[in-house]
Amino acid sequence: MVQRRLYLDWNATAPVLPQVRQAVVRAFEEAPGNASSIHREGQAARAIIERARRSVARAVGAPAQAVVFSGGATESNNQVLHHHVATTDEPFVICSAVEHPSVIEVVDKLDGQGVGTARWPVDEQGRLDLQWLDDQLAQGATLVSVMWANNEMGNIFDVAAIAEKVHQAGALLHVDGTQALGRIDVDFQAAGVDYLTLSFHKMGGPKGVGATIVREGLKVSALMAGGHQERGRRPGTENVPIIAGVDAAATELVKNLPDWQLALTKRKELFVDTLRSAVPQLELRGAPEHQLPNTVNVAFPGVDGEDLLLALDLEGISASSGSACTAGSLEPSHVILAMGFEEKRARESLRFSFGPTTPLDELGHGAQRIAELVGRLRRLEAEI
Ligand code: PMP
Repeated sequence: MVQRRLYLDWNATAPVLPQVRQAVVRAFEEAPGNASSIHREGQAARAIIERARRSVARAVGAPAQAVVFSGGATESNNQVLHHHVATTDEPFVICSAVEHPSVIEVVDKLDGQGVGTARWPVDEQGRLDLQWLDDQLAQGATLVSVMWANNEMGNIFDVAAIAEKVHQAGALLHVDGTQALGRIDVDFQAAGVDYLTLSFHKMGGPKGVGATIVREGLKVSALMAGGHQERGRRPGTENVPIIAGVDAAATELVKNLPDWQLALTKRKELFVDTLRSAVPQLELRGAPEHQLPNTVNVAFPGVDGEDLLLALDLEGISASSGSACTAGSLEPSHVILAMGFEEKRARESLRFSFGPTTPLDELGHGAQRIAELVGRLRRLEAEI
């Protein structure tokens, strides 16, 4: 009998919702036109895009005209940072030390080009110190880039409090909402965000599509030249079927978010409680009081995370070490290093992330199997 796999890597990407799959297929069949054409086929394609824009706006508390579709959060993050630097006198960009590489690497590059930058440090639980921000704002920061929730720890940052400080100082706030979408409330206007960037594939939407959401009165320029689509802010023929999938994902989010949150919380409790009672010496990482309900970052002291990850894969459980594979060598995650862990301790971290439809009983059973494997690896380590 083929054993069913237990997929616990939703922060890497989530399974596509059935409604999304149906919407994509339907649009391929029913809306083959180019959304820029004036004939009926073009209008049908255009209608899909504008409906999706309204659905995304509703899902994140933004006006529809604020939503610019893109090819994903990597592109949107690049777009906001480059736009800011190109249109600001004496730009000074701050990003947190735990941002996604699509922010950190851009900021590093800008730094290399002579732009003023600073990296906002985190403490051992991955939390940000607001006092540090005050000091930097006083020194003339013009843009602060911080994620709504961290992909590795699941830590949620206090976006509204950060927005208040940033605006008092006359600076702008960019928030990467990729991991928060579909897991916690994301309210663009209520939180006072200037630029919100999104990707849809972590919450059941299609991959390769995202959005840049821009506060009224602000602009964002295109990264590329060559077309007038998205009112000149993202050239290139729109991927209409994929955008139809975004419409379906955003619609499901609006309908189901409270239920999804309940389902996630229940799953996280079961998973953590089972691991806690079955594994001696377990270290939960991150800031438990401000964490996504779908993410558990855990270290099993004495067990190398990569060894465990590979053993789990053979057992049919997919998780993540949160480390990037660079040129064949597995580097410990920059997030855990930023939290002050030395390399060996950083390598112990594993990330388990799930979704509202992760089967509850299989999750509990999976936690038991993880505990057994940890025990086995620890015994092996002791024999060496
Ligand atoms: N930001 C965060 C926080 C992410 O987790 C990811 C995906 N790993 C991205 C940005 C990049 O998103 P995309 O895959 O849409 O480029």
